Amino acid sequence: HIESSPLVISDSFEGYPLNFFNLPLHYRDDLKSVLIPYGLVQDRIEALASRIFSDLHIHIPEQLICMCVLKGGYRFFSDLVSKIQNENRLRNDRSLPMSLEFIRVRSYINDHSTDQTEIIGLSDLNSLKDKHILIVEDIIDTGVTMVALKKELEKFKPKTINVVSLFTKRRNDKKCIFKPDYSGFEVPDHFIVGYALDYNEYFRDLEHICVMKESGIIKYKV
Ligand code: 5GP
Repeated sequence: HIESSPLVISDSFEGYPLNFFNLPLHYRDDLKSVLIPYGLVQDRIEALASRIFSDLHIHIPEQLICMCVLKGGYRFFSDLVSKIQNENRLRNDRSLPMSLEFIRVRSYINDHSTDQTEIIGLSDLNSLKDKHILIVEDIIDTGVTMVALKKELEKFKPKTINVVSLFTKRRNDKKCIFKPDYSGFEVPDHFIVGYALDYNEYFRDLEHICVMKESGIIKYKV
């Protein structure tokens, strides 16, 4: 049975040296290491897709609303949905029909969470009534964003809400207030970028999940 809880990346693992990877020239000086290579991200997403498919097809005979949390979640969303589609294509005995929604939640300025969350892009909220939702998020840090989002969505009385987050962060200071139903990796308390995760709109165009250098953090500060 495939694990729904995250694969733990330990604090002692500092990542792979940059010179073993093909990285864009424009970011090479701003990164410290490759924490999770693109290929491993893909493998884990495939496993999550398989687990989600086998869990949810039983409970959800109707469409599952896959809700992409933009912008950071877009690559994960796209890869996860296409891997669930693969499951659908390859199986004749079961299926999981999906519809797709896109929303935006903003809570970060520089590399710090703020307690103000903003949810944009949800049209026709009443159509969520009695539906099954899968929220697809890039990373859960404090958990504040997800608690706020879930609370907002619950107002519209969906039947179920499941949450999948590609990453969860192991926080040094205090515990995270939200645990997703499915998670890809648990990462140490660093600010990570790449695979659509940004730092002030930089690094989304990077394939691997990387840790930034202090100099990079300063360079792209707003
Ligand atoms: P939370 O409310 O859980 O503290 O933060 C969730 C949001 O903060 C995520 O959706 C993501 O946009 C952003 N975030 C948190 N940690 C990181 C990180 O390490 N890297 C990036 N790029 N974004 C992060």
